[in-house]
Amino acid sequence: MKMRFKDALSNIDYHELVGLHEDLEKGGHAIRGEVKNAILEKEKELGKFCHVCQTEIDPHSMSNYTILLGPEGLRRKASFCALDCLKYFISDIERRKDEFKKKSASVGVPEQK
Ligand SMILES: [Zn+2]
Repeated sequence: MKMRFKDALSNIDYHELVGLHEDLEKGGHAIRGEVKNAILEKEKELGKFCHVCQTEIDPHSMSNYTILLGPEGLRRKASFCALDCLKYFISDIERRKDEFKKKSASVGVPEQK
C-alpha cells in the first residue's frame, strides 16, 4: 500500500517525531540520509519490473532499457524489458501531451513545455 508523507507522519511514534524535529532544527542531516537511502531502495525496486508490461527484468539481458525522467531533484527511474515497451511508453507520453495541448487550447491555458 502506498502511503503519503502526511499519513506516514501520523503513524510515527511521538518520541521518534521529536527526534526528527530535533534533526530538522540542526539541519536535517539524518533525515536527508534516510530519504536518500529510501530513494535508492525504491529505484532498485522500480528497476526490477518493466514499467509497461510488468515483466520481471533480467538484469543481465542486453535488451533492457532504463531512463531517468523529470527535473533535477525530482528524477524518477523507469526500466523496460524491451525496445517495444520503451517505444510504447514514449508514444503514450506524446499522446498525453497532445491531449493536454488540445484541452489547454480550448480553455486558454498557456502551453506546457
Ligand atoms: Zn515490457
